[in-house]
Amino acid sequence: MEPILRLATKYDIKWIRDDIIRIISEDWPPELEKWDFNEDELDVFKSHRVGGSDNVDLDLPEPYEAIRIALQYEIPDILTAAFYHLSRLAPLADRRLNNDAMSGTSNGDTALDLHAEYLSTGGRTAWFGLLSKNQLLQLARGKHEIENFFHNVCDDARASTSKRCQFATPRNQEERVKRKHCLEATEHLSNSRLAEFGRTRDPLKIMRIDHPTSPPSQLCGTCLEHFQRLVYGSRQDLWYHLENFFDFSGH
Ligand SMILES: [Zn+2]
Repeated sequence: MEPILRLATKYDIKWIRDDIIRIISEDWPPELEKWDFNEDELDVFKSHRVGGSDNVDLDLPEPYEAIRIALQYEIPDILTAAFYHLSRLAPLADRRLNNDAMSGTSNGDTALDLHAEYLSTGGRTAWFGLLSKNQLLQLARGKHEIENFFHNVCDDARASTSKRCQFATPRNQEERVKRKHCLEATEHLSNSRLAEFGRTRDPLKIMRIDHPTSPPSQLCGTCLEHFQRLVYGSRQDLWYHLENFFDFSGH
């Protein structure tokens, strides 16, 4: 597809170029709704494939290539999704290791064995080694900003929830105990979100309204609903801010 994109760009054949950009944007959408749609599809796809002998990773879009094409052919709209996906991956998930890991000839190399296991459980990779120094800086900066953003969301949600609690002004001892439980449970809820972030680096997933929660049982209904709504309410904001977080201004 790239040769056609190159020619369409070179000779300014807009309709062909637009057509190809539309196809690439399917994988790296500029809209959060479409991102969610893709993620749901991906879950279904993975659930059918993981556990088999084949490697799901190679059948899925790779972010370095998307970034390279975005910059080379001036398609900035796909950068947000590509960089965000990259930010979810550990730098060790380097595609360079795929061939050796999948060939089964690791010869006791622990790193390759771990990589093979990662791939077999549906792990995804990127060409980390091909990113430029500037792109690595953008990535590091973006990851830092995303982490700050998500920590702030959780802190704010916890503080605001404690004010909304139906037992915020307890009238008797029983309500004082419930109030105390609610405060502890809200903190637990917030901490478990942060711990999940540490594991997955995927706040867009954690902030989904339908994201499975296992709230502590002593949390009152008002607190739980308020906390969930606040976290979910910041999701679109996060998506909107990603462009600045990764600082695409100078590419
Ligand atoms: Zn409460």
